[in-house]
Amino acid sequence: MLSKLSLVLCNTLIWFLLNGSLFAQTKCTADLGDNAGPKQLDSINLLSGSYIQNINTHLVEDLENIDSPYEKEIKESYEKRVEKLSSLSSKGHFFYDADLLNKINEIGDRLIAANDIKNKDRINWVLNRTGNPNASCVGEGTLIINLGLISNLHNLEQLAFVMAHELGHYHLDHVNKKIEETYEFLNSEELQKKIENASNDKEMAAEELLEMLDEKSLSISKHSRDHEVETDKLGFEFYTKAGFPADQAVEALKVLKHIDKGKYPSANFSEIFGDLDQVWKPTWTKTRLSGLSLVKPDEAEIEKYRTHPETTVRIEQLLELGGIEKEASINQEWCQMAMTIDLEILEYSYWIGDKFDSFVFATQLFELNQQNEFVNNILANCLADFVIAKEEHTFSNIVPFPNIKMSDHHFDGATFLDNINFSALKKIALAWIEKNVNFDNDSLEAINALAIKMQIINKNLGEEDLNKFTTKWPDSHYLK
Ligand SMILES: [Zn+2]
Repeated sequence: MLSKLSLVLCNTLIWFLLNGSLFAQTKCTADLGDNAGPKQLDSINLLSGSYIQNINTHLVEDLENIDSPYEKEIKESYEKRVEKLSSLSSKGHFFYDADLLNKINEIGDRLIAANDIKNKDRINWVLNRTGNPNASCVGEGTLIINLGLISNLHNLEQLAFVMAHELGHYHLDHVNKKIEETYEFLNSEELQKKIENASNDKEMAAEELLEMLDEKSLSISKHSRDHEVETDKLGFEFYTKAGFPADQAVEALKVLKHIDKGKYPSANFSEIFGDLDQVWKPTWTKTRLSGLSLVKPDEAEIEKYRTHPETTVRIEQLLELGGIEKEASINQEWCQMAMTIDLEILEYSYWIGDKFDSFVFATQLFELNQQNEFVNNILANCLADFVIAKEEHTFSNIVPFPNIKMSDHHFDGATFLDNINFSALKKIALAWIEKNVNFDNDSLEAINALAIKMQIINKNLGEEDLNKFTTKWPDSHYLK
């Protein structure tokens, strides 16, 4: 019963993360050079090593200082989160680029120097390679900023506000308090009694238990909304005390308000792929949703479980606290950096195997610069992957059906891939690869991977080529 409830909650959360807004935001785009690509960082990174050492040292201290009747459980969750962070770091999910980390640490140091923040010597700013535009406080000193967030913001000051907000969570110890509260609830006599009754197969008791859990998750959402408002208030104080401009805190929240919509508009698929195929059908980009996927979730029901307050409420609070509204101020140098971060995000997305997302994002980036070699190669790989997946009947594992809950650009991409038939897709993929890929540049992993895929598609795969294939690209399963 517990898992069923949390599933419902999760779906709800995912839904409103994807729920786009109707307003366009001011553009922060720059020129994507033809040869610009992701940085080739060392896989065994010294920065990762010292980070892992650091958090493990803090863990030892934390385990010694737990003062709670649920010591055993809390100990376990402290250990687990450090284990998880260590594993993410050593497996390459964090972005250890010294230039960007220096920038982040400079902002962090400025905020910390101007404010009295608890346990400030433990703070580690970590960059997560995902495109998901978010930041988070882990609780033991790690504060995570996703590349997707940096890419969407318009200047350094906006990032400083988001970082100040996360410092607020850390200073107020929200995460550790929540862990303790959760164990208190799980061990409470009332809950134990209800579980016991329900397991004795009494229908009423089961219903009561569900009701209690529902009430609990409601109060968690409410509690967490209150936390957000409280954290904004403290974050704004940290931010202004460090001398950052009040208007960019408000601007940062305005960007967050529209962030689900994505940074770029949907790509025009008929323009990108149309001239590769003489039999291009306009219906390939037409919506044909089934009735089921058109059912919209109930807004009021979603609102109940929202863990974050409406951004409008947060903006209003900032204005009351002295925040100022100002026209968007876009920093060109920042936007240029954000474009190179987009290439990092694209590489990461493909590397973790999210081919649909990679395809959609690459088509958006392609429209900004049709000559960029890296974007072209990723698109080529995605198209080849889709052809192979159709042949292997695994297409639906990697490409979702179009669904009204998707953002516009995902919806358009899914619609195109859902409508187009196998032979047309294959024709487009091969024509794309012939037109846009330079196989002479075989020092690139993307090209090596693609060379193998071409042989799979053309069914003439030789032993020699198999050995050339590098396993960094997550396509090695084709070779089994
Ligand atoms: Zn927050």
